[in-house]
Amino acid sequence: MCGIVGIYLKNSAPEAGDLTALGLFAQQHRGQESCGIAWCDGSHLQVRKGMGLVKEVFTPEVLTGMRSHCAIGHVRYPTQGGCTLENAQPHLVETLGGPLYALASNGDLVNYPRLRTEMGRLGIYLSTTNDGEAIVKLLVYLLEHEKANTISAIRSLYSQLEGAYSTVFLTPEQLIAFRDPYGIRPMNVGELPDGWAVSSETCAMDVLRATHIREVEPGEILIFSPSGMKSFRTDARFFRSEHHPGTAHCVFELIYFARPDSFQFGQYVYEIRQQLGAALAGYDDFVPDCVVPVPDSANFIAQGYAKASGAPFELGLIRNHYVGRTFIKPEQTFRDESVKQKFNPLTGFFRDKRIVLVDDSIVRGTTLRKIVSMIRGAGAREIHLRIGSPPVRHPCFYGIDTPTYEELIANQYSVAEIRERLQVDSLKYLALEDLKRIVTDRGDHCYCCFDGKYPVGKPEAGQKKETSC
Ligand code: SF4
Repeated sequence: MCGIVGIYLKNSAPEAGDLTALGLFAQQHRGQESCGIAWCDGSHLQVRKGMGLVKEVFTPEVLTGMRSHCAIGHVRYPTQGGCTLENAQPHLVETLGGPLYALASNGDLVNYPRLRTEMGRLGIYLSTTNDGEAIVKLLVYLLEHEKANTISAIRSLYSQLEGAYSTVFLTPEQLIAFRDPYGIRPMNVGELPDGWAVSSETCAMDVLRATHIREVEPGEILIFSPSGMKSFRTDARFFRSEHHPGTAHCVFELIYFARPDSFQFGQYVYEIRQQLGAALAGYDDFVPDCVVPVPDSANFIAQGYAKASGAPFELGLIRNHYVGRTFIKPEQTFRDESVKQKFNPLTGFFRDKRIVLVDDSIVRGTTLRKIVSMIRGAGAREIHLRIGSPPVRHPCFYGIDTPTYEELIANQYSVAEIRERLQVDSLKYLALEDLKRIVTDRGDHCYCCFDGKYPVGKPEAGQKKETSC
């Protein structure tokens, strides 16, 4: 999971760098390892990248030197590619006379190893393990060597790339946004008083005071230039596999990743989460003393449970917001350490209570085991764990950090065994059919964490996944 931003200002107002930083800041939850912004210095492109948070890398002094009417930006959370500055995005492509192309992308390609080999045969060499670099170098090759125009070059990409890629591409003249034909990762477009904004989530549009227009459609290419915004639709059905003919929006965006104040895939994220909680409440025939979320991602799911059950919603666990989201720390060692630092029960609150504890998902189970032990230690009499999604049994190859089957607790153990390992009095997951009923909208979703039906396939056997969003 990463976040992207693109800004194009029509009347050459030089504020695109500041606005891009603001949009990235609003999407910091999508990636905290590194961030970057590319902008136009008049005739060529420049890039600034750094490890860490947006506000640490893009200080007011740094932003002062980035005056431009157009810019793209990226916050990165690494999946498999190393946690290094080289893998940070945007990627800039050097051409004769200076860099003219920059690109940032959210999502992973499943055919990256094969693509890298094929690009090597064409004399296109990659210096990182990041698929954004592969996309931009292939695109520039098509533009410069095959003299394709932008639209046909991107359509050619659609036929060569397999996986998820919500992408912003910058030249000194244009900002271009395009999205894979399945629309796996989100991408939205909005109107600014003097131009346009593209972002992964609509919460960035709100901060930018942009009017949200709509999603960038799966397979669509949007070009922003002094003459306005132009849309080029691609008959995406042509590029989709016969196994999954529709769109495949990542359902986990709605359950966990997206901010609750975002409007994602045509649905209000907080409303969806409340409905997940209400469905969970329907599985129980008792009313607990209170419903407690694992903050913050399960807050609205727990609220939905509480409303439907009649039990009070209580914030019994306090989260330290300065640690970061446990799930998106790249190394297991970091993860274990940060759980201890991250949550603390309210003193005296849990004593002798029968609680329903709500979380959005169980991936490895390491965080929840520690939380349950903490709550038990704080005196809870009964802990009933309710999960706002079905068991995660399959890894994601489209940009989320669930890398191996072995690491997924639900792939290794039955629900009864997981209950035992987590030491809770009862454990219930949301049923897949209820999830599908709740997220039904104008598009179809990817559910393959739960059912293993990969809409765009997975890396070929023996091809270790080396890319990262
Ligand atoms: S595998 Fe899971 S996390 Fe990945 S795109 Fe599909 S639903 Fe989303």
